[in-house]
Amino acid sequence: MDELTPWDPTRPGCGAGIRGNEGRWTHCDRDVVAAGTRRFHHTPRERWRTYACAQHQEWLDNPRPLAEADRDDLAWRQEQHDQATRGRPYMRVRPLPT
Ligand SMILES: [Zn+2]
Repeated sequence: MDELTPWDPTRPGCGAGIRGNEGRWTHCDRDVVAAGTRRFHHTPRERWRTYACAQHQEWLDNPRPLAEADRDDLAWRQEQHDQATRGRPYMRVRPLPT
């Protein structure tokens, strides 16, 4: 993993991209152990809450163990993800307010 590895801060899980079948990018599906924030060079003013597994937590700006509110947020994200998958109305994960 390096600076060019895709990272999806809206995921209901680890945000890291990993190489899957035939070298295509897919999502890391390891258990989330840390919460933190990240900024991305293409949108430097946006700061995102995002999550990571043990292997990818060093990529968070300020990793910390999951708190109750993080578990609630992850559950909410999963609900929205499931709604979107079913073609139902859902809320998008947004950057943190500045
Ligand atoms: Zn990961």
